[in-house]
Amino acid sequence: MTAQRVVVVGAGLGGLRSAEGLRAKGFEGEIIVIGNEPWAPYNRPPLSKEALTSEIQHEKLAFRIRGNASDVVWRLGESVESADLDSRTVTLSDGTSLSYDGLVAATGVSARRLPISGPPALASGGRHVIRNLDDAIALRAALVPGAHIVVLGAGFIGCEVAATARLLGCTVHCVAIDPHPMVRPLGYELAIELQHRHEAQGVVFHLGTGVTAFEGMGQVTGVLLSDGTHLRADFVLEALGSHCNVGWLEDQRLDLTDGVLTDNALRPMRDGTAVDGVVVVGDIARFPNPRFDEGAFRVEHWNVPTDTGRRASAVLSAYLAGESYDELAQTQWSMLPSFWSDQYDIRMQSYGMTNLADPDRIHLLEGDLHGECVIGYHRGEDLVAVVGLGMLKVVNSYRDQVGSTSFLASQTTA
Ligand SMILES: Cc1cc2nc3c(=O)[nH]c(=O)nc-3n(C[C@H](O)[C@H](O)[C@H](O)COP(=O)(O)OP(=O)(O)OC[C@H]3O[C@@H](n4cnc5c(N)ncnc54)[C@H](O)[C@@H]3O)c2cc1C
Repeated sequence: MTAQRVVVVGAGLGGLRSAEGLRAKGFEGEIIVIGNEPWAPYNRPPLSKEALTSEIQHEKLAFRIRGNASDVVWRLGESVESADLDSRTVTLSDGTSLSYDGLVAATGVSARRLPISGPPALASGGRHVIRNLDDAIALRAALVPGAHIVVLGAGFIGCEVAATARLLGCTVHCVAIDPHPMVRPLGYELAIELQHRHEAQGVVFHLGTGVTAFEGMGQVTGVLLSDGTHLRADFVLEALGSHCNVGWLEDQRLDLTDGVLTDNALRPMRDGTAVDGVVVVGDIARFPNPRFDEGAFRVEHWNVPTDTGRRASAVLSAYLAGESYDELAQTQWSMLPSFWSDQYDIRMQSYGMTNLADPDRIHLLEGDLHGECVIGYHRGEDLVAVVGLGMLKVVNSYRDQVGSTSFLASQTTA
């Protein structure tokens, strides 16, 4: 009998954890991981934080690959162009095809660019994004003391880079259409407090306004805002969110409206039915999570590739072994999204889904908003998220209370 083969598309954290998970679950066949970056899997969060303050090296950021995955075949610098879920093949950009018995989709997201006129969307023209190691190396080289940087977008990544750029002695302007930085995930009170802390460090915000044009021919020299303001810029960072890398799954009758819609076993849904032999992990997975009880959500947090990778590899290995698969796939699985962010000396830690909260049900739970504190995000009576500024032990102590009331009750009676 020929050995089974699993193809993992995407050599990031989700791809790595899925490969390790398959081995941990006893899958003995061939595992091939295809990644379009030249690098073995590495940690992305430091790219907008501490890694930007020194020389950026892959060795410092690379994940250690667990011993059980030492025989995984890494095909780095190669891209998957398309998949055919019926014939169970993927086609690479060089035109070659690979057949599979199991497929893991772990292709993450790409940075969005502003579709406006100006120099080409390249770091060499002063238009940076920050999604991968090469982006960070280019941005690091530009962050010299005295440089004028305009950060477009005031989400977490934009604000982290703004903070790091101030620490490195750059002049930083931050432009966003939102009324306050990070207001969408955090709500008004915390967003206003964080805005004040950034302003105290010298970041100048231009809020409630968009960008009309980048100035300069081959190289950005300035930014024109929709309120008429002109900002000098030696370079810009476009930190405007992301789009999912799912083009290679088009024409497969999957729901790709926001990532890949899956069932609770992380199998993609096709015409209302889960596709066997395929699982989706990490940033691109939009899955139902009974902890928050309604709908399916996609979450771009660091713990998601690990948690979904573990669930997906258990489901896929059971399918490939032909054992207890239906039972496992039908067992409800839940997870608690978490993220952290470092800005200056502030460590922000969160559990849950702040975006599910009722806007008027976001309250201080502990501490002092102007110092260290924990904020609670409620939907009706449910605590759907907590965010701490500092107070790590306290915010951690709320973990088990986060979720829908019915889910938490089922956990205590189980
Ligand atoms: C700068 C930055 C800072 C962050 N900071 C935080 C933080 O502080 N806290 C937090 O919780 N999360 C943070 N995150 C988010 C976290 O890093 C992601 O959620 C996580 O990396 C997602 O893992 P993934 O495996 O799903 O995708 P990725 O890590 O993006 O890996 C996907 C890989 O697939 C490759 N790929 C795409 N298409 C193809 C194709 N067709 N063929 C082959 N390969 C392909 C991609 O190039 C990439 O290498 C940050 C992310 C970034 C970029």
